[in-house]
Parts: sequence; structure tokens; C-alpha cells
Amino acid sequence: MSERVDVAIVGGGMVGGTLAAALAQAGLTVALIDRADPAAQFEEAYDGRTVAIAHATHRLMQATGLWARLVPHAEPILDIRVSDGLSLLFLHYDHRDLGEDPLGYIVENRAIRRALFARLSGLDALSVRAPVDLERHIVMPEGVVLTLADGSEIAASLLVAADGSDSALRRLAGIASTQWDYGQTAIVCTMGHERPHRGVAHERFLPAGPFAVLPMTDDPVHGHRSSIVWTEKKALAPAMLALSDADFSLELHRRFGPWLGAVRVVGGRWSYPLRFAHAETYIKPRLALVGDAAHTMHPIAGQGLNIGLRDVAALAEVLVEAKRLGLDLGSPAVLERYQRWRRFDNQVLLSVTDSLNWLFSNDLPPVRLLRDVGMAAVNRMAPLKRLFMRHAMGVVGELPRLLRGEAL
Ligand SMILES: Cc1cc2nc3c(=O)[nH]c(=O)nc-3n(C[C@H](O)[C@H](O)[C@H](O)COP(=O)(O)OP(=O)(O)OC[C@H]3O[C@@H](n4cnc5c(N)ncnc54)[C@H](O)[C@@H]3O)c2cc1C
Repeated sequence: MSERVDVAIVGGGMVGGTLAAALAQAGLTVALIDRADPAAQFEEAYDGRTVAIAHATHRLMQATGLWARLVPHAEPILDIRVSDGLSLLFLHYDHRDLGEDPLGYIVENRAIRRALFARLSGLDALSVRAPVDLERHIVMPEGVVLTLADGSEIAASLLVAADGSDSALRRLAGIASTQWDYGQTAIVCTMGHERPHRGVAHERFLPAGPFAVLPMTDDPVHGHRSSIVWTEKKALAPAMLALSDADFSLELHRRFGPWLGAVRVVGGRWSYPLRFAHAETYIKPRLALVGDAAHTMHPIAGQGLNIGLRDVAALAEVLVEAKRLGLDLGSPAVLERYQRWRRFDNQVLLSVTDSLNWLFSNDLPPVRLLRDVGMAAVNRMAPLKRLFMRHAMGVVGELPRLLRGEAL
């Protein structure tokens, strides 16, 4: 006996899980399939990263019933200070230039996963199938049939690939993707420090790439904490990761300086190879790609998840409207609307982010001069600075309803 749903989503990460919540709370029937055990995803060992949640994403999380569970884990970003190695020129973004709202929030990925699964378990229109592998799927004119490794079958009008950067569904659908390797590795850890961070996020550009210090909530055991995203040359990263805690903490101090007093690494260290990827299309018959399955970007601007959740907001709006009008959810007309809304927008942001990484991970003297003068100039141009801040907050462009904080 197969389960019959409107939408089957493969990949229950932060993107797939949020899409499932948005659709199910609007009354669509959904099956969410993930090969990882949800309980394992809540452990520090699974993912030690934090994510910078833009202001618009925060509104989506409110509208999908996630935010109340995240409040104790979310540290507001009040200021962002961008500096270039030893140069005295810098760029300073202050949230008060735009009003009362913070520029965004820093939240641990595993706190988001925990909140998501708690939210999903309260939604009747949704079934979560995990841990289980997708064995095969067949696309037919009237729908898609999925067979899971436990032998069960799911029939759906639409299949959504939210299976991450290495998406098997994207490959199986024959969708090519433009991609390259940055030759950089992101080293991620949590840093305990003597002085409070006061909600300031720092991004310091070093020859190997950006070194970000992101404010986290205080912890009863470790006290003041910040999350580190340290971009290192791929060849050097293994040696850095192998350092003792004392030597690793010394390297953190050397890169960041005395701003927060004495610093030490707390907990584990993680590493992520960095690459660019953009799928040539987000849609095929009865298939839509969302999140990292569609695009993978450098974390320099902290936007990968934010744009993945923009995909979610647009696709959910398109599908809920189609359902109300009695349209076929997997039809080309419905899916084309999603693709038109998101792909070009993502292409622009991916290109800008790629250029930023080139500009700031470069030690050529003329390039250094160009970026330092550029940063100092932007710092003095209040309207331009406000525009950049509004972009980082995700409040520019044609926003889907969830990103405006409205229910579907
Ligand atoms: C160092 C670093 C820092 C970052 N910082 C930020 C930030 O500050 N702000 C920001 O917005 N973004 C940030 N990002 C990007 C962000 O982490 C990603 O964009 C986001 O996690 C992508 O989520 P996803 O759900 O699309 O994919 P994933 O998190 O990869 O989830 C994919 C899911 O699919 C499941 N899956 C895969 N294949 C199958 C299969 N065959 N069958 C069943 N299930 C399957 C997996 O188990 C997983 O649960 C950062 C990235 C890095 C590397």
C-alpha cells in the first residue's frame, strides 16, 4: 500500500524541513524523507556550525512556528565590523542606522534542527520518514512514485530535492551544474572569551580568506562565546586542525587580536571544503530543487541558508496557491513560476559573493589598495551603507509572504 501525498521532499535538513513545515501548516499533505537519524542531527558531533539568520529569515521562522523555540538560542547581531588584515581602514555597520531591529541573529545549526523536528512532529498533514534511504523513484505523467529502502512506497504530485550540495536527485534528473572548487577549507569551532562580545560580528580579511567571529549566546559552562569561521588554504587546513587546543587557541588569538581578552577553543573542530555550484535549471517534470541542492556558495557573506529559505518561501507560496486553484502541483506552469522567482535572483547573489571572495582572499598590492579604499569610502557613504545592510537583512526585492512574516 503506498502513501499518497501532495509533495514528497527528499532531504530533511534545515531547508527541506522548513519547506515541509510551511506546506503542512498550510494544509498540503507532505512526506519528508531523510537518510540521517534525526536524533543524531541534534548532536554537536553532527554539525558544530552556527548560521547567521538574516532579518527576513527570522520573520519566516516566526511565520512557520519555529522562532519561539529558537529565542533562547539566538544572539542578536547589533554591529558588523569588517577589517582588512593590519590595515587601519575598516567598515562598520550599526543596526541603529536602520532602526531598532538587529541586523540578524546567530543560532547554532543543531538548535534549528531540534526546533524543526519538534515543530514537524506537531503537524498532522506530514509524515517524517527517517532514517531511511530513497531506493528509486519513477516519474510518470500523472505523478512520481518513490520506493524507500524499507520497501514502502510514496506517490506524490511533486518531488522536491532538498538533499544538499551533493544532490543525488539533481544528478539522476540529468541537471548539469556550473561548479568550481575554491581551494579553501572553512575551519569551524566555538571560541570562549574573557570579555563580552556586545553583539558585534567581526569579519577580518586575511591572505588565506575571511576570518569571521560571530557572537553567540552565553553558555552556563563556557561563559562568553563566539563562533569562528576561519577560511584557510586547503593544503594548510589539516595541519591547523591537528594542533593541540593550546596551540589552536594561540592561532585564533594571532588572527583576531586582543578585542575579546583571553580566548580558548571550546568543544570540537569541524572543516568544510568550499566550492561554488549552481544548477542550470531548478525544475524538471514533477521535480523542483531547493537550497544547497540548487546552489552552493562561499560562506563569506553568510547567505547560503538564507537564500535556501528564500527558495522555500517562494516555492511554498506557489504550491499553496496552485493547490487552492485546483492546479496540478507538478505541472510545468506551476514550477516555471518558482524558477522565474528564484533562479535569476540567486544567480546575482552567487556572482557577487564569488567576486567578494576573489577580492578579499587576494594579497596582490593593487587589489588590497582597491578594497581598502573601497571599504573606507563605503563607510563614509551612509545611503550606500544602508542599502548594503538592507540586502544583508534580506528585505530587498519581491519578497514572498513568509519572508514578510505572513502566513500562507
Ligand atoms: C562553514 C559554513 C558556514 C556557513 N554559514 C552560513 C551562514 O552564516 N548563513 C547562511 O545563511 N548559510 C551559511 N552556510 C550555508 C548553509 O550551511 C547551507 O546553505 C545549508 O546548511 C544548506 O541546507 P540544506 O538543507 O539545503 O542542505 P543540507 O544541510 O546538506 O541537508 C541535506 C539533507 O539531505 C539528506 N540527504 C542527502 N541525500 C539524501 C538521500 N539520498 N536520501 C535521503 N536524504 C538525503 C541529508 O541527510 C541532509 O539531512 C554556511 C556553510 C558553511 C560550509
